Amino acid sequence: MKYFNILMILNMIIFFSTKANGQGAIMGLNDLEISASYPSCGSFNFMQNIQTETADLVDLSDEFMEKITRLVQIHKDDREYADLLVIPVVFHVVYNGEDENLPDSIIYNQIEILNECFRRTNADASETRSEFIELVGDTKIEFRLAEVDPFGAATNGITRTATDVENFGGILPYGPGESDEIATWVGDSLYYNLFRLTELSLGGSDAWDTEVYLNIWSGDLRIFEPEFGDIEELVYFALATPPLDHENWPEELLTELAEFEQGVLIHYVNVGSNNQNRLPAPYAAYNGIVTTGKILVHEVGHYLGLRHIWGDGDCTADDFILDTPNSNNSSNWTCSHAANSCIDDIGGTDLKNMVENYMDYSRGNCQNSFTIGQADVMRTVLEINRPFLAETISTANIDNLSKFDHLNIYPNPFKTEIHIENASNYSNFKIFDLSSKIVISGELNSTRINVSDLATGTYIIEVANENSILRTKIVKE
Ligand SMILES: [Zn+2]
Repeated sequence: MKYFNILMILNMIIFFSTKANGQGAIMGLNDLEISASYPSCGSFNFMQNIQTETADLVDLSDEFMEKITRLVQIHKDDREYADLLVIPVVFHVVYNGEDENLPDSIIYNQIEILNECFRRTNADASETRSEFIELVGDTKIEFRLAEVDPFGAATNGITRTATDVENFGGILPYGPGESDEIATWVGDSLYYNLFRLTELSLGGSDAWDTEVYLNIWSGDLRIFEPEFGDIEELVYFALATPPLDHENWPEELLTELAEFEQGVLIHYVNVGSNNQNRLPAPYAAYNGIVTTGKILVHEVGHYLGLRHIWGDGDCTADDFILDTPNSNNSSNWTCSHAANSCIDDIGGTDLKNMVENYMDYSRGNCQNSFTIGQADVMRTVLEINRPFLAETISTANIDNLSKFDHLNIYPNPFKTEIHIENASNYSNFKIFDLSSKIVISGELNSTRINVSDLATGTYIIEVANENSILRTKIVKE
């Protein structure tokens, strides 16, 4: 068990904090040891850790999820599902060894898997059990590696940064018998260590504007443990920052959250299904389970507002999604079609645990579905909390996506006038300030827009025609 020292302590912290929330299952020491023996996704733990340092992030996030659920219900009947929402992605490859310098082919494979899973064109969609078929669906959300970088230059959407940092989890300065110190270190340092990936000055790669790109960073997320025999310990396969709601949130919490860039961090071994890297002992048992490209699907689900399907608690804990069955725990990286851990009522049926769901911890080759309720939540989060991230394309144009353009505005930053490339493709435009208020709008009769009246600052410009809405960020100097 010596390998699992940090994991055990970390899980004890999670155990105690979920218990303090009143959500946690009552677990005995044996359960704790079993639960301690596998790494996980760190998204919910990240929220809990912030909560221990500032205000009630998890409670506030519960309120946020309730609000989203209400909005989904209100708009259920008039919901415009025809539009395809396309999210530009920048993939930051941060490498210390050549193994970590993932070739483009792995990134392309990962983006393809992401799209197949979100559009339900995955080959294993046929394996969804019949009782769930009516509940699952196409999210109509797609991901494209960015074609234009924040400076307007052409890009393939992949950045590569060599780093001196060998383990982004950090170096554990404690050894056997120092459990309290290790627990404190995990609480104080681990997330800051991991998020070094998102800053060039700390050995990572700087984010591209997180309001208009989904930023994904891959690197070595392990913790190095010199006092435990030079073990490189993996606590999290990946983690994502949840969407934030600034409405009524305390300033201290927003200040704390602002220290962490929005996006997804993923251990390099877990990217793609054609990645030749493998988890070493003592994690070798997870090879094949978490190396199918589905870990990123799960994390992007978190980034777009989804919780774990078991609600990170017992049968009373909710994921705030109406059409997902309850369960009292994750599937612990198994794939049991027999499990039915909680009684629920979805359309009059007590459904079994939905191990097919990407938001469970089931084996990658067991996961094949998002429910329509989950798709509704993600699309509503995009509308409300990440309003400038996705570009909207109507179904009329979906078959014609090779013609899809990214919006190119120059100069940017600008002073008195901006030019729009391919302006003739669009009929009108709007310029928003960052509170989503329209400051200028009109028909697009020329390639130039006079913006001399705008105050210095950052804006979002949107151009539209009958088929699509494109947005990008612009800055007035
Ligand atoms: Zn997760």
